[in-house]
Order: sequence, then structure tokens, then C-alpha cells
Amino acid sequence: MGNMVWGAIYGDIIGSYYEVHCTKNYDFELHMESTFTDDTVMTAAVCKAITLNSRPVSYFRLNERALEYAAQYKRFYSNYPNAGYGQMFSEWADEYGFSRRRSYGNGGAMRAIPIGFAYDTLEQTLLQAKASCMYTHNSREAVTGAKAVAAAVWLSRRGKSKNEIKEYIERNFHYDLSVPIAELRERFIFDSRAGYSVPPSIAAFLQSEDYESAVRNAVSFGGDADTMACIAGGIAEAFYGEIPKNIRDFCGLRLDGTIKRVINEFNDKFK
Ligand SMILES: [Mg+2]
Repeated sequence: MGNMVWGAIYGDIIGSYYEVHCTKNYDFELHMESTFTDDTVMTAAVCKAITLNSRPVSYFRLNERALEYAAQYKRFYSNYPNAGYGQMFSEWADEYGFSRRRSYGNGGAMRAIPIGFAYDTLEQTLLQAKASCMYTHNSREAVTGAKAVAAAVWLSRRGKSKNEIKEYIERNFHYDLSVPIAELRERFIFDSRAGYSVPPSIAAFLQSEDYESAVRNAVSFGGDADTMACIAGGIAEAFYGEIPKNIRDFCGLRLDGTIKRVINEFNDKFK
């Protein structure tokens, strides 16, 4: 169980080249120009917010907790301002103070992986997922994406089967996760809306055999590859618990010391 949040970050790195050079090829190569992007930076920001304060929150104090997440987003953004953020997020992050944005994008879901590792109950996991979205992705669509991803990690960690995870998410979040990967791939277009891109990212995990095949499924949709592979890889790591050495080595070379330290602190605290 030493990997935890690395599964999400490696997915982001592997997908980064193919977000720009989209591919429908499952057997794509790990490209030399791969780098970590906003998905990694914001996942690290969530890790930091939880490492600093992991206490459960009540529904009535959600706004205070939301501000703690938001403060870390701004802090990490200012340390990594060129990691490929969406325009709405950058405008929010550059602004003095804390207003709320109503993004429908998948940015809430891409950084929700750590939440699924940190909390004892599913109820608290879902509350934290909501809090993590309230300042940047304050829409039902984006919050649902973050909740679904955090729940998938939480359920994986509790040894639930893929069928149980699938049924839980379909029932509670009204995602259709039954479409075969080949069919999804054929009709998929580039669209970063949460309601469009999060369900196939989860399906990429559900229809995988191991960590690597989850990431390959997600990239081969030919869409928002880094974010989709971050989500699929993050859940896959929680479920399978193993990442091949060549992937660990390839991605490890592409990270900096600060990100590594933040992730290691989180992983050590919640393993
Ligand atoms: Mg990205």
C-alpha cells in the first residue's frame, strides 16, 4: 500500500502528451515529452489540505472547510502557475480574495482521488468532496463528478468488487457505466465537462485488468487524456494496489521534490 495517490499522478503524466496529441490507439508509447500538469498540482493541493486538517466536518461547517481547500488551490497555483489550468480556474486563482465559480468542468473530479483515501466513512468522503468543489466548481454536475471519484476510491479501499462499485455509482450519481470501452472510444469527442468525461474515466477503470490497462483505456478515448487517466489511474491504484516498475520509474523522473514531499506526507499519514 505504498503507492496510494501516485496512481492518479502517474496517470496525469502519462496522459499529458496525449491531451495535446490525441490518440485512439490503446498501445500508445510512454512519450518522452510527458510532464505533470494541473491535475497533479491540484491533487497535491488536496493532499496538503487534508494532511493539515483531517478532522471530519459537519454539514453546517462545510464552508470553512471549503475555504481551506480553496486556500491550498491558490497557494499551489501560485507555485506552479503554468501547469495547464483552465481559463476559469486561472482567473479565479489570480483574483485577490475568494469568490465562487460555477464551473461544469472535470477539474473537481481530477483532484478528488486523495479524499477517497483519507476518511473513515463514505458519508464524510462525500461531504469533503463537496467542500473541495465549492469555490471553483460550485455546480451540481462538477460536484457529482468529484463525489463519484472519491466514492470509487473509498469503496475500492474497502475491498468492494467492481460490480459493487459500479452499482453504487450508477445508483447514486446516475452515470451509465455499462458501455463497452471500444464503443465509448469510437464515439468520444474532446469535451472536459464533468458529466461527459467523468463516467468514461470510471468505466476505463471498471473495464481494466490492472493499473496500466486502466490508464491505457482512459488515454485511448482521444479526449482530455491527462485528466481522464488521472481519474482512472487513481481509482485503479486504490483497487489493484500495484503499479508496474517501468511506469513508476518513467513518471518519478518527471516530478519535482516539492510535489513528491507533499504526496509522501499524505501517503504516510493515511496508509
Ligand atoms: Mg491537465
